[in-house]
Amino acid sequence: MQRYDAIVIGGGISGLGVAALLSKKGYRVVLLEKESILGGRSTSFPYRGYTVDIGVHAIASYTSSGIERLVKEVEATLELIPIKPSLMHLDLDTRAYTRAASRERFGDALYNDFKRLVAMVAELDKEEIETVHGQSAERWILDHFDSSELVAFFDKITGFSGQPMDKVSAGAFLETLHDAFTSEATITYPARHGIKALPDVLEGAIRAHGGEIITEVAVQGILFQGDRVQGVQGKIVRPSFISEVEIQAPLAVLTVPLTLLPRFVPSEMIGDELLDKVSRITAENYYYVGLVAGVEASLFEGFSSRFFQWTVDRAGMDWHGLITVPSFVDRELAPEGCHLAFIDSHGPMPYGDQALAGRRQKELLSILREIWPDFDQKTDWLHPVIYPTILPLAQTSLTGPFRPGFRVPGATGLYLAGDATYLTGSGIGSAVKSAFSCADAIEADQR
Ligand SMILES: Cc1cc2nc3c(=O)[nH]c(=O)nc-3n(C[C@H](O)[C@H](O)[C@H](O)COP(=O)(O)OP(=O)(O)OC[C@H]3O[C@@H](n4cnc5c(N)ncnc54)[C@H](O)[C@@H]3O)c2cc1C
Repeated sequence: MQRYDAIVIGGGISGLGVAALLSKKGYRVVLLEKESILGGRSTSFPYRGYTVDIGVHAIASYTSSGIERLVKEVEATLELIPIKPSLMHLDLDTRAYTRAASRERFGDALYNDFKRLVAMVAELDKEEIETVHGQSAERWILDHFDSSELVAFFDKITGFSGQPMDKVSAGAFLETLHDAFTSEATITYPARHGIKALPDVLEGAIRAHGGEIITEVAVQGILFQGDRVQGVQGKIVRPSFISEVEIQAPLAVLTVPLTLLPRFVPSEMIGDELLDKVSRITAENYYYVGLVAGVEASLFEGFSSRFFQWTVDRAGMDWHGLITVPSFVDRELAPEGCHLAFIDSHGPMPYGDQALAGRRQKELLSILREIWPDFDQKTDWLHPVIYPTILPLAQTSLTGPFRPGFRVPGATGLYLAGDATYLTGSGIGSAVKSAFSCADAIEADQR
C-alpha cells in the first residue's frame, strides 16, 4: 500500500501551496480535493465559449506578498500581465473618467496626504505593523494624518472587500498596503487561462516533485490514535461511483474553510482559545454581491477598451460598483467579438443581510443600464451571483493576536492553512502566506 508522509485536505491556493512546498522538500504528499477542479475559490472554468473566473481574481502585490516567492520556490513559472494604472474610476454624474487614486479625482491636498501615507507605509517594518492589529485602520489614519477625508478616500478606492475603515484592522490595512506599495506591480492578471493559471502551475509543481493529487474525494474526518494523526477518512464522490476511502499518514493539513474545523476534530483537541477564534470568524456573516456577463465587444466601443477594472459611483453613494473586464487582458477568455465582464459591489457590504444583497444586485444592474442604455441588447448572458462568507475579513477582532494560526493545540500532526488562518484580507496573498507559515510549522516540528 502507498505510504504518505502528509495528506493535504483541500486543493485551493493554500492547499496547493503547502503540498507544493512539502513535496519540494521531499515529503511524500497526497492532496485530496472534493471537487473535480483544482483552485478552490481561485479557479476558472469553461462556459459557453468563455473562460469564467469564479469572481475575477486580480493577483495583488505579486512580488511582495509571497506569491512570486512561492512560484519560484516550487520551481514553476507563471506569466502575468501588470495592470497599469491598476484601477480607474467613472463618476456616474459627470462621466469623468480618472485614475481611481489620482490628483484629478481627489484634489491636491488629499492626494498629497495619500502620497505621504504611501511613503510612510513603504518604510514600515513587519514588527511595527504587528503592533497595531487591535486598532482600526480609521484610527491609525486619523492618528497619523488627522484627516477624515483620507479615511473616505480609502473607502472609495476599494481593497478590503468593501469593508469600511472603522472595521478593518490597522495591522491588516498596513500589511496589505505595504505589500502593494513595495511590489513591482500592484495588480496583475494571468496572461492566459484566467486565474486558473495559478492553481495550474502549483499542480504542475506538486506532480513534478513526486506529489499526488486526487480530486473528487470529500474528506469527512481525521483519524487519530490518542492525540496523534493517523490519516483521514472520506468519500470518493464521482458520478456513479461513491465509495469510502481511508488514507494513512502521520501528518494532515486542513485547508477547508476554517469554520468547518469543529466538524473534523473533537472540540477538546481544538481547545477553547482556537475555538473562540474560529467562532469569531464564523460570526462574520458576509455577502459577495455581483453579476457576471458575456457581452458583445461593441458595448465598450469608444468607452474604455484599455482598462481592466474601474469603480463607478456618484456623489452621495456610500458604496461603489467595480467593473472588471479580464478579456481586455486575455482575448481568449471570451469568444471573438465578445467580452467577459464582472460587476460587483463594494462599500459597506450587506453583512448578513440577504435582502440588502439582493437590492444591491438590482442597483448594480441599473447602473450598467445607465452607463450603457443598450446593455440588455448587447448581453449574450448574465448571471447574478451572491456568495455568503467568502472573503477573509481583516477586522480588528480577527487579525494579529486573534489569527487562528497553523497548529491545532491538542492534536499532534494536524496543521491548518487557508486565507482565514492568516487574515490580512488580501485573499490569495493571505492563502499563500498561510501556506508558507504552515510548511514552516511542519518543518520546525519535524526537526
Ligand atoms: C468572488 C470572489 C472574488 C475574489 N476576488 C479576489 C481577488 O480579486 N484577489 C484575491 O487575492 N482574492 C480574491 N478572492 C479570495 C480568494 O479567492 C481566496 O482568498 C483564496 O482563493 C482562498 O484560498 P484557500 O486555499 O484558502 O481556500 P479555498 O479556495 O476555499 O480552498 C479550500 C478547498 O478545500 C476544498 N474542500 C472543502 N471541503 C473539502 C473536503 N471535505 N474534502 C476535500 N476538499 C474540500 C474546497 O473545494 C476548496 O477547493 C475572491 C474570492 C471570491 C469568492
